Amino acid sequence: MPFTPFHMGPGAAIKAMTGKYFSLMVFGFAQVAMDVEPLVRILRGDSVLHGFSHTYVGALLIGTFSHVFLDSIMHSDMQPFSPFSASNGLLHIMPVGWLYLLCVLLGVSGLMIMLAAGMRNK
Ligand SMILES: [Zn+2]
Repeated sequence: MPFTPFHMGPGAAIKAMTGKYFSLMVFGFAQVAMDVEPLVRILRGDSVLHGFSHTYVGALLIGTFSHVFLDSIMHSDMQPFSPFSASNGLLHIMPVGWLYLLCVLLGVSGLMIMLAAGMRNK
């Protein structure tokens, strides 16, 4: 994660920029679906929580690159370029609080743009 709902912030911004060409519902479903793996691993007590679903190869299956990118910044167990590399060069490039703030700001901005666009179309 960041906590899964925070991924909707960038999703709202993408929706605001792409309009009908981007499904926020499908995006949200994919965000939740890929965080099932860490949830199951937490329940099993695994030491590595973010596996295949949190790699760019795994993201190819459901188009969740932004999720892998954002989670790479905050989770030390992630290997986003696996199986090609075990490194995570994005880890801690910004404080986690800033990451959450960025997600919220993107979400608020995206919602405001969508709201303005909706009002203009009426
Ligand atoms: Zn995640």
